[in-house]
Amino acid sequence: MDIKIFGVIGSGQMGNGIAQVAASSGLQVIMNDISEEFVNSGLGAVSKSLKRSVDKGRISEKDKDAVMGRIKPSTDIKDMEEADFVVEAATENESLKFKIFQDLDKICSSQTILSTNTSSIPIGRIAGHTGRPDKIIGMHFMNPVPIMKLVEVIKGLSTSDETFQITWELSKKFGKTPAMSEDFPGFIANRILMPMINEAVFSLYHGVGSKEDIDTVMKLGMNHPMGPLALADLIGLDTCLAIMETLHNGFKDPKYRPCPLLRKYVEAGWLGRKTGKGFYDYTS
Ligand code: NAD
Repeated sequence: MDIKIFGVIGSGQMGNGIAQVAASSGLQVIMNDISEEFVNSGLGAVSKSLKRSVDKGRISEKDKDAVMGRIKPSTDIKDMEEADFVVEAATENESLKFKIFQDLDKICSSQTILSTNTSSIPIGRIAGHTGRPDKIIGMHFMNPVPIMKLVEVIKGLSTSDETFQITWELSKKFGKTPAMSEDFPGFIANRILMPMINEAVFSLYHGVGSKEDIDTVMKLGMNHPMGPLALADLIGLDTCLAIMETLHNGFKDPKYRPCPLLRKYVEAGWLGRKTGKGFYDYTS
């Protein structure tokens, strides 16, 4: 299957990063969000990220312009009718994703593969809302997308081998290393990472240590490049909470109970870097 037009739903931190790597690999990209404000903010983020590559001498100004020129902004999901392959990277919310996949299933050609960048929602559950479960797959990029090498590829119960192979090869075309996960809540990455982050939040909640000390212990003691609380702020606390809810509901095991402090921060709109405040303050 020759993929020429690549659709991205959601132009937040993951969506715009995915659009950047797809356009950098030579594909025509349609980047969609619910309003011009969000799409323009996504385009701005891509431009800023490419400028850093120009400043470091990795690409030329001409390359940057060519990549930007391959990303077509969209605020109408119907624009996806042209796409050969779509990755959905909208907010981590089950009912929202079900609706997006129902719409894509109606709009896109029957040959189009519809993938999701969900952090935790089982692929089979999303596929069940479409009439093409063989063409539904998880394509889980890591944050920040242009830098992180991994793509977790998740095969649902009905995903065909052909869909899997195309997604695997596309990950490589984007300069990434794919790894395969079976279809369980949280897959491999977030089944391991998120309970650790949740436990760091519990440690703060119980007063075991300050946020700085918790992060220092994990950075210097365990050689992690970032502390878990700083990482949670980078991921987005709303996304972290949504992943813990999916693990908790999916396994019905109390060990995945989201920390009340995490919920409190999300309810207050403290979502981390994207809102300027989470465990740390990013306003200055
Ligand atoms: P984000 O909040 O930065 O962006 C989400 C975007 O989706 C927003 O711009 C929002 O306007 C848009 N959106 C909401 N409803 C939409 C709709 N109906 N149509 C089109 N766009 C819509 O979130 P994010 O961090 O980019 O996460 C997006 C997805 O990627 C989630 O499923 C998340 O779990 C997953 N993910 C996140 C990370 C991370 O570190 N943040 C890592 C891997 C995967």
